[in-house]
Amino acid sequence: MSVMVDIRSVHKSFGPLEVLKGIDLTVRTGEVTVVLGPSGSGKSTLLRTVNHLEKVDRGVISVDGVLIGYRRTGDRLRELPEREVLRQRTRIGFVFQNFRLFPHLTVLENITEAPLSALKRSRREAVDAARRLLERVGLADKADAYPRQLSGGQQQRVAIARALALEPKLLLFDEPTSALDPELVGEVLDVIKDLAHRGTTMIVVTHEIGFAREVADTVVFMDDGRIVEQGPPGDVLERPRHERTRAFLSKVL
Ligand code: ADP
Ligand code: MG
Repeated sequence: MSVMVDIRSVHKSFGPLEVLKGIDLTVRTGEVTVVLGPSGSGKSTLLRTVNHLEKVDRGVISVDGVLIGYRRTGDRLRELPEREVLRQRTRIGFVFQNFRLFPHLTVLENITEAPLSALKRSRREAVDAARRLLERVGLADKADAYPRQLSGGQQQRVAIARALALEPKLLLFDEPTSALDPELVGEVLDVIKDLAHRGTTMIVVTHEIGFAREVADTVVFMDDGRIVEQGPPGDVLERPRHERTRAFLSKVL
């Protein structure tokens, strides 16, 4: 199977605080990687480096064969041109904990905005695609609503539809259900499961262990800026080898 994301020796500091201490991770095309770990372990920073929202200090990241991290040439790190960075970023969908919909736009406009501006789609094409996506996330009847008129679970499903509208080759989720009331978590996880079954390549940061067990091809446990353990869910979740993984799982299970 081909490799979608290849992360090699990635280091990242904020001032004196080293947040990523040498991360190596490979995500194969069509696979779901679930990232677990305590708060502050570097999970969001890792996702943000993959999406080029955060520059790495050392190491390289490639997505679909295109290097989006820094390239080391001799002793110097060469940065990609901004234009190339932006082009890469439009092919990577990002779903945030707090939805981040545009409050002044309707649901349909939220979804068509980027295809119209970034992909230069015709309005007709963009609207047709948005309606199909709304159907898929179970919100066909909400096209003309504004975000504030929707529940958190519905807003997050719109945010997923919006990410999909750019036809991304990779989807990143940063705790997509952490801001939701418990009774709304299932409807969002069901949409993500559906994407998984369709072969969407995803990296999902979540504390939902049941979801990880059911959907993940690979589970990664991060602690203190490092990947402590990674492997199939049956290994990492059922037979963790490291004490820190065991301690974490005993708290979230
Ligand atoms: P997680 O998502 O696992 O909770 P984060 O990647 O958000 O962890 O954060 C890891 C560490 O980096 C935390 O100590 C956090 O306070 C720090 N951090 C994250 N972003 C920044 C930033 N922009 N500036 C300074 N410190 C940051
Ligand atoms: Mg985080």
